[in-house]
Amino acid sequence: MNEEGLKFQKQNELALILAETSRQLAPSALEDFTSLLLPHLPDEAKHLLSWDIAVYDTQKGNIWGLNNEFFAHRQLDNLASCHSALTALLDEKRNQVPQSTLVCAFFDHEEVGSESHCGAASHFLTDTLKRISDATSNSTQDFARALARSFMISADMAHAYHPHFPSVYDTQHAVHINQGVVIKINVNQRYATDSVSQAMFMNWCQQAKVPYQLYSHRNDLPCGSTIGNIVAKLGLRTVDVGCPMWAMHSCRESAGVFDHNAMIDVMRYFFSTSHDDTL
Ligand SMILES: [Zn+2]
Repeated sequence: MNEEGLKFQKQNELALILAETSRQLAPSALEDFTSLLLPHLPDEAKHLLSWDIAVYDTQKGNIWGLNNEFFAHRQLDNLASCHSALTALLDEKRNQVPQSTLVCAFFDHEEVGSESHCGAASHFLTDTLKRISDATSNSTQDFARALARSFMISADMAHAYHPHFPSVYDTQHAVHINQGVVIKINVNQRYATDSVSQAMFMNWCQQAKVPYQLYSHRNDLPCGSTIGNIVAKLGLRTVDVGCPMWAMHSCRESAGVFDHNAMIDVMRYFFSTSHDDTL
């Protein structure tokens, strides 16, 4: 492990270990997983047939770094972006009724391709937006018109330059923790940003007094993707952005306290202003 790093054999070495006990000593509740769940369920769920399980670090998050500039927590990718968007949407200081229909959409299954009945590639968002349009207009044309006039910020976390791994970054396009929100660009359209959406988002950052950084992945390494392009198929002009972070997908990730607030600020600006004139 010290020489070659830690590599898991997924079938055998990633199985969860819940307890170790001999059969004689095992309390009956541990003999099958269903009986372990039952005491925690309301009465009407006593005939449990099936379940989904999500495993995560239950330790609390904490602030760290010489100047308290980092925070470490589980699932920052991508709950941090969800938190930013929801905080901005629910902004209590917004003093006027929004001119536009404001939507925050959060999806499961992004990490496994989004192709599910409820993932970003499902009909859920399209149907919901269509029904909002139908409820507020008499013309069947208005839905398409509204999409054409809409803008989407696709927010997912970004890989910040890490001094341990300098070779996996394009030195011209690396982004750094606490140096601002990241605009992601990829000419192979792994990200949905184009020059127009990039310029619009840069302008909003400037208006909100938020610093930004531009990211492109190395050409010789596979680039990640987001749900940006999946949802952009609706005909939405889209920018892919995110906060820079370290140790993405580890059970305890780190990001910058400054960047998270910056993302909230620029999203708050986006939600508070009508952008028709800039589209
Ligand atoms: Zn991810």
